[in-house]
Amino acid sequence: MGFENDSNLDEVDAMVEADRDRRRLTTLSLKIQTALNGYRIPGSHFVYASGAHGPDYLSKDAAYEEHHLMRDIEEALALLVPPETGILTAPAVAGVFLVRGTTERIADRPGSCVPYMGWAEKDGHDGFKFRTPFRKRIEQGLGVTILEDVVTTSGSVSRVEDAIVAIGGRVLAVVCMWNRGVERATRRGTPIRAAVEVELPMYHAERGESCPLCDAGVPIDTRFGHGKDFLEARAKLGK
Ligand SMILES: [Zn+2]
Repeated sequence: MGFENDSNLDEVDAMVEADRDRRRLTTLSLKIQTALNGYRIPGSHFVYASGAHGPDYLSKDAAYEEHHLMRDIEEALALLVPPETGILTAPAVAGVFLVRGTTERIADRPGSCVPYMGWAEKDGHDGFKFRTPFRKRIEQGLGVTILEDVVTTSGSVSRVEDAIVAIGGRVLAVVCMWNRGVERATRRGTPIRAAVEVELPMYHAERGESCPLCDAGVPIDTRFGHGKDFLEARAKLGK
């Protein structure tokens, strides 16, 4: 069987490129997972932003300091962002770095359509808002992809999605560096793609489920995460 015309060749080129991207993503994922494991603090009792408890803390703020690691993460995210994405956004503050770097890596790819970029900032009422020029871009209806560093319960990215949908925008995907809750989709059913998808144990104390670490009397770790807030809130309730 031969290739009859240029369109066949274009198809072959596209298949070769897709295969190369898949292999590159596999390599990057393993590299990122290994590197991020070095930023994992195990064997304690942490409270996460969602309110869930667990024995591991992923010190992503420390990872952000490492230029080569962030470059690999951004390249992996760029490979995971749907090509029809017109806008990239992420919850501020750390997400600003991800949006900037990932957009650069998308721009590095030949023939890519470089998305507009902007961040989602907290609105002071547990939701998110966008500054005017960027909000107008979202209102225009270009497909939005939300970036996030670590997804635990998808609560934060779901709230960013709510803010986008509230102004008439549409979200194509959530792309993150580590999906530690192995969440498949946001609350609205938008798919979540991850460079690293490895579950870390988590107990939903915030949903009234029992936490074996609490049951065993392991002290709450206040060095990282939201342990301090949790203890203060509990003290106010007089428990
Ligand atoms: Zn606990």
